[in-house]
Amino acid sequence: DITDALFHHAVDQSAIAISITDAAATILYVNKAFCAITGYAAEEVVGQNQSLLSYRSTPKPVYQALWAALNEGRPWTGRLLNRRKDGLPYVAELTVTPLAPQNGGQTHYLGMHWDATDEH
Ligand code: FAD
Repeated sequence: DITDALFHHAVDQSAIAISITDAAATILYVNKAFCAITGYAAEEVVGQNQSLLSYRSTPKPVYQALWAALNEGRPWTGRLLNRRKDGLPYVAELTVTPLAPQNGGQTHYLGMHWDATDEH
């Protein structure tokens, strides 16, 4: 039986960048790897939109595909060009999973990404 404290510790210590957002992609929680990969402290990004990470060069259809999947309650995986706090670009291999309550309607999303720049 896993305790809540151990579960929280596992998420916080994960090598994958993890964020939890509301339905509008406003960040509610980020783990340590998210801070390490993006260069932002948690208090700098909580309350901001995930689009804060966009390098503004990923083609719009990529984001439209992401949101089309999410609005149908499906997870989405793809690569985006992200911008670190220091301005450096990196390739984010991202999976976003809808965290829907049983009675429908998206309320929260789980984002998980890692830096795939070296593979690009
Ligand atoms: P936006 O106006 O946000 O979106 C561009 C297009 O996407 C719009 O034209 C519209 O068609 C569609 N769209 C946007 N929001 C919605 C919505 N709520 N419902 C339906 N369609 C919509 N983006 C990154 O660049 N990097 C990330 O690492 C990243 N991680 C994310 C993690 C999570 C958990 C979630 C939920 C989203 C993440 N996003 C990420 C997507 C981000 O929220 C923005 O949609 C994206 O960055 C584009 O932002 P924008 O301001 O350029 O355009």
